[in-house]
Amino acid sequence: MRINRLTYEPSIRIGIVGAGCTGLTAAEELHDLGYKNITIIDAKNRVGGKTYSIRYADASLQARGIYEGGTVWLLPSPLYKKYRKRYGISPSLHVMPRVQVFDLGTGKVSSPFLVESKYSLLGRLWQLRKFFQELDKYTLYSDPGYINPTYRGMNESSPQWFNKQGLDFIRDALMPIANAAQFGYLKQEASTAYVIRLLALLNRCNFLKKLFLNMPQLQEGNQELWNRLAATHHLCLGQTIERVSRGQTILVKTASNQWEFERLIWTAPVDDFLGVADASRAEADIFSRVRTIKRAVITCKVEGLPANIFYVIRNTLNQSLPTSYPLAIYEVDPGSKIYNFYPFMDETTTVEELESNVADCVKKLGGTQVTPMGQPLIWKWFSHFSAEDLKDGIYQRLEMLQGNQNTYFANEMTAGVSVPYGMEYAAYLVERFF
Ligand SMILES: Cc1cc2nc3c(=O)[nH]c(=O)nc-3n(C[C@H](O)[C@H](O)[C@H](O)COP(=O)(O)OP(=O)(O)OC[C@H]3O[C@@H](n4cnc5c(N)ncnc54)[C@H](O)[C@@H]3O)c2cc1C
Repeated sequence: MRINRLTYEPSIRIGIVGAGCTGLTAAEELHDLGYKNITIIDAKNRVGGKTYSIRYADASLQARGIYEGGTVWLLPSPLYKKYRKRYGISPSLHVMPRVQVFDLGTGKVSSPFLVESKYSLLGRLWQLRKFFQELDKYTLYSDPGYINPTYRGMNESSPQWFNKQGLDFIRDALMPIANAAQFGYLKQEASTAYVIRLLALLNRCNFLKKLFLNMPQLQEGNQELWNRLAATHHLCLGQTIERVSRGQTILVKTASNQWEFERLIWTAPVDDFLGVADASRAEADIFSRVRTIKRAVITCKVEGLPANIFYVIRNTLNQSLPTSYPLAIYEVDPGSKIYNFYPFMDETTTVEELESNVADCVKKLGGTQVTPMGQPLIWKWFSHFSAEDLKDGIYQRLEMLQGNQNTYFANEMTAGVSVPYGMEYAAYLVERFF
């Protein structure tokens, strides 16, 4: 639904802050509509944002020689497919190992759907069917971000929600994966809206993919799509925004540059916006409520672990684990002996703790020697609101901000976490307002 097509002016100057998938999709869609003056600004010296493919050299391998420091799985989206075709990305994908659960207490490895449970196979299948049917309501491509008003009511914690729905087997099977992918130590408190939105991504996959969770990556590395797409746009990299002032036009300043725009699309985190912009009272009120956590990716060469694994860690030990214990681990290329580990971090977590938790995890998995390949990558993660804010209609208020002072916001906070969500929200924003 484009509501102000009458104001279509292809020559206006549009600034986009952030060259991750959301900012680049906004640029691409604007370009497709005929807009000619688009400038993309990013603080980093590369594009892709949280999609970050890193090359490693190992002459002995037939493998791709790439590991992912950010986005792991390519999740289905028609827009993603369209861009992959447009930019000549190989249609054959690098398929990751299927996800299995490693139980720290027993050392057993099993499919998430075969973990110990009081439910028979039939009972499990019944819950699976019921759950995926429920998810259908949240799988609509035309329903970007948290605009669907049902999310407002989904503010209770997810363990409560699963119990009420009679889906406790699904909780046991899928929550370790959801926690490893997004929630970490917030597992008890993250509102159901966030959990359902994450799991709704699974509903875009066919039945076998849902069951085995053997998701793909791009052969070229996930970042390559964004490198190719970005090369067709006007980019200003290595530019951290220092000031945004809005009047008749919008002035954006960095230490070495200044731009003037008629419209601004902000795809960087909103706390950064508050730090540099002449924020309105409504922007300040909403953005100061956003909560984030941190997550790390640690890449190590490890001896003695099985090849081609993707384990989600389940803790049935009698002791709780540190909040910064790895929740998932996989070999980045079959036979490479290079493994990625995924812990979360709280305010007190140090790099030494992260590394010692990885070493402990490797020991429990039967590995013998760990050599980190550089420093951990640390990401600002999971912009979200409290249950109370959700209930009070924060996302509805957020949508009302769109277009005020010719400024638009599209990022993980508005869209939800994942590349498809970022892209689809950006496309929706362009379709609706430009
Ligand atoms: C470890 C990890 C695993 C993930 N796994 C998956 C997965 O398997 N599948 C999936 O679909 N998604 C996954 N994601 C999530 C996905 O990567 C993100 O949701 C998505 O990339 C967000 O895109 P974005 O463009 O909204 O934000 P970002 O990618 O965060 O881009 C924002 C951009 O803004 C720039 N920026 C920030 N501040 C400023 C500033 N002040 N001035 C200028 N520029 C600024 C940043 O440099 C960045 O380039 C994963 C992410 C991580 C970190």
